[in-house]
Amino acid sequence: MTEIEKGATRAPLAQNFDAVVIGAGFAGLYALVRLRQLGLSARAIEAGEGVGGTWYWNRYPGARCDVESMQYSYSFSEELQQEWQWSERYPRQEEILRYINHVADRFDLRRDITLQTRVASATYDEGSALWHVQTDHGDTFTARFLISAAGCLSAAKVPDMTGLADFQGPWYHTGNWPHEKVDFRGQRVGVIGTGSSGIQLIPTIAREAKEVVVFQRTPNFSIPAWNRPLADEEQRQWKANYAENRAKARNTRSGILYDYSQRATFDASEPERQQEYERRWQKGGANYTHAFNDIFSNQLANDQAAEFVRNKIRGTVKDPHTAALLAPTDHSIGTKRICVDTDYYATFNLSHVSLVDLRATPISSIVPSGLQTSDQTYALDSLVFATGYDAVTGALDRIDLRGRGGQTLKAKWAQGPRTYLGLMVADFPNFFIITGPGSPSVLTNVIMAIEQHVDWIARCLEHMQAQGKTSAEPLASAENDWVDHVNQVASTTLFTKSNSWYMGANIPGKPRVLLPYVGGLGNYTAICEKVVADGYSGIALSAGVTQTA
Ligand code: NAP
Repeated sequence: MTEIEKGATRAPLAQNFDAVVIGAGFAGLYALVRLRQLGLSARAIEAGEGVGGTWYWNRYPGARCDVESMQYSYSFSEELQQEWQWSERYPRQEEILRYINHVADRFDLRRDITLQTRVASATYDEGSALWHVQTDHGDTFTARFLISAAGCLSAAKVPDMTGLADFQGPWYHTGNWPHEKVDFRGQRVGVIGTGSSGIQLIPTIAREAKEVVVFQRTPNFSIPAWNRPLADEEQRQWKANYAENRAKARNTRSGILYDYSQRATFDASEPERQQEYERRWQKGGANYTHAFNDIFSNQLANDQAAEFVRNKIRGTVKDPHTAALLAPTDHSIGTKRICVDTDYYATFNLSHVSLVDLRATPISSIVPSGLQTSDQTYALDSLVFATGYDAVTGALDRIDLRGRGGQTLKAKWAQGPRTYLGLMVADFPNFFIITGPGSPSVLTNVIMAIEQHVDWIARCLEHMQAQGKTSAEPLASAENDWVDHVNQVASTTLFTKSNSWYMGANIPGKPRVLLPYVGGLGNYTAICEKVVADGYSGIALSAGVTQTA
């Protein structure tokens, strides 16, 4: 990496591009590939010292994807998907980061990426019809198109806790983990948070630390991963059928080839239901929530699937009080992101691991020697925040992003995000969001959702080139209709009843809206295709100002 790429002390840059891309994770890299194919100049601006986005930052012990390796990868290049060898059923963070670095090299993308630099502001200039982008290095870029690849889970959230600044030991957030190994040997470690990150991290840290105290506010449902090395034959089979498998996956609701049942819960007898839950539990992973087709929409059906998991927890955790605390009763299974684990519940049988119920004894403050609840003080050498993200909108909220008339995106979204297709925003011309709010995004194999979005954007730009158009902006009426549709579909599910980050419920003051579109990736893609077939219906394409700055 050159000094300039590192961004440490470099002089500010001033340049014009056809497109500026915010972020160089999976979305940003694929956007560069497609923009280059269109002959457009582009620059991706990336905060990390390397590419990879969420997989660059999430280096916490145990970090692993809960979508299987053979599916959690790009499908745009047949050569790439044939040549890359995955080693395990679920890929480790290091392996995914190696993969994405391979992609950056293989497609020669690094020359279009500025690393270690954050987009501070982006303002649409109506006079020149260009976006003016400023970075935290004082760079000023102009571009006709602004493409957000900033990610849905990239704005890490450390809760405001009194006393944290005075804590004597080191503290970490899972989404901003140090690059060097953190040595927990001989340490008393406090972990706050029991979502997907905490559930992966806790058993891993417990193998090393002297003592682990888990501070739990809300328990989550978790299904075993049964992770294992990927057999050569299994990999060969996948590769032989990749084209067909990917096409099928794109048509599913989550972009993942799960075994989606067509049967309703109460069409099966009680023994049949138990047998099916058990079969899915033994297979492992989020496939469990598709055991019947009404788990997300029928409360009684959901209760059945949830009770099976609660029984598994009771059967695993030896102390009945701890088991009761770990068994979720406050939300329907799957309406908060289902977790996938290795040995999570069994970890609480270890004598050096304990669980503190923050509902009964809330955190009062962090103190220099540890953490104080309403009940007692826990002496800790280090503290881990597995407290999640300002999801889906957080990364864009942190940029001063202004459209027509200087209106900020933050102000426009004050009552909840408003987009057309989760892709574009009225009054923000030529601004595209990859996996934006109101698209399937976080409810899918996000790489599938990214590819679908980037391909759609690239086709839109190609169409504009062919038609001599320079501006694309959704109509306010189309945006209103889309927001209504997103909310209407959400209201038919159990998702809206949960206090999840999907609903913005983890961030104080965030509007309560189901952030992703829950209609499914397959249906959503068909809607996007119809918009194209109808000549980009709902979008004003015009030939406006064409000069460059
Ligand atoms: P998360 O699901 O939002 O979980 C955050 C945890 O921190 C929750 O248990 C939350 O409790 C707790 N928490 C937050 N603020 C707190 C406070 N002030 N005091 C006490 N507890 C607090 O975050 P995450 O685990 O990082 O996961 C986020 C998402 O990233 C996942 O849902 C998933 O989509 C993705 N992810 C995926 C993988 C994977 O592929 N395996 C791994 C990690 C993350 P409450 O529930 O009470 O708010």
